[in-house]
Amino acid sequence: MNPLRSIILAAAGSDAVRKMITTAPGTRAMVDRFVAGESADDAIAAVAALADTGRYATLDYLGEDTHDAAQAERIVQAYLAVLDRLHDADLSARAEVSVKLSALGQRLSQRLAVDNAFRICAAAEQCGTTVTVDMEDHTTTDDTLAAVAELRKPWPDVGAVVQSYLRRTEDDVAALAAPGSRVRLVKGAYNEPRDVAFSHKHDVDLAFVRCANALLAGGAYAMFGTHDPRLIELVSDRAEAHGVPRDGYEFQLLYGVRPDEQIRLSEAGQIVRVYVPYGEQWYGYLMRRLAERPANTTFFLRSVVTR
Ligand code: FAD
Repeated sequence: MNPLRSIILAAAGSDAVRKMITTAPGTRAMVDRFVAGESADDAIAAVAALADTGRYATLDYLGEDTHDAAQAERIVQAYLAVLDRLHDADLSARAEVSVKLSALGQRLSQRLAVDNAFRICAAAEQCGTTVTVDMEDHTTTDDTLAAVAELRKPWPDVGAVVQSYLRRTEDDVAALAAPGSRVRLVKGAYNEPRDVAFSHKHDVDLAFVRCANALLAGGAYAMFGTHDPRLIELVSDRAEAHGVPRDGYEFQLLYGVRPDEQIRLSEAGQIVRVYVPYGEQWYGYLMRRLAERPANTTFFLRSVVTR
């Protein structure tokens, strides 16, 4: 892993760093770039604006590392409320929701998190949309895939996420690459040890391509979560070679990242879904975005130190 990325992800866990960053004057502009706002109203407005330019959305109510059941319940209620709002605004066909099991209480108990995810999936079905379960660090991969398998019994369209940086992922993809299976493929955003994850970017990219081929060949509905121009082009070519039509897979990009490319792809006939985070707990999310892109970090650190 890039040393700067490791340092940022490691520093993100420090209370002193958290305090410095959340109070720094330059922070607000960075948050506004990557986070759609704090309320459900903000989230719905973002979905509507994306729909106006042909893009779809997946809404992520920010919150992770939930340590008590009451906090998990508040997060479930936020999802239920935003799903209602999507339905009322007639935008259910334009957006799904992404959930993190850690936010739903996975660290307290897997059962609690899965039960909470069941409630969100039931509400999503009633509102005419669906759910994707985000993937977090490698210690949770087995439990998260087991949760997705359980959720898929009543709701086969629940999306799974796999991370190409994990050495295990090609095996996971082999199990998930079946017709009708919605699978988001990403590189992976956490600070992982070398024994479980590839440490060279090139190996992560090669694994991404192998997984993409397996998903397309297996007939899954693949959701390619990447901003990487080379991978976007390569995946489009591979889809064509596999005879998968443009509505048989999609590209997913993060809110605020390469917006011109999002529109270009959409105008070229690709399905483009934007991952839209909203809510007050933006810190962990922002730090992962900074770790991905040294240019963002330099810009941001300059605004922190020149206050
Ligand atoms: P990188 O390797 O970061 O960058 C490759 C190239 O892409 C760069 O050289 C540049 O050309 C271009 N690029 C990247 N970022 C920018 C930018 N900000 N501006 C301009 N160009 C840029 N990770 C998880 O671990 N679990 C998840 O559940 C998860 N869900 C995700 C959902 C979506 C929709 C997306 C897009 C990502 C998700 N991620 C998730 C994050 C993912 O794992 C990567 O950390 C993140 O996408 C960065 O990798 P990348 O493929 O975009 O390319």
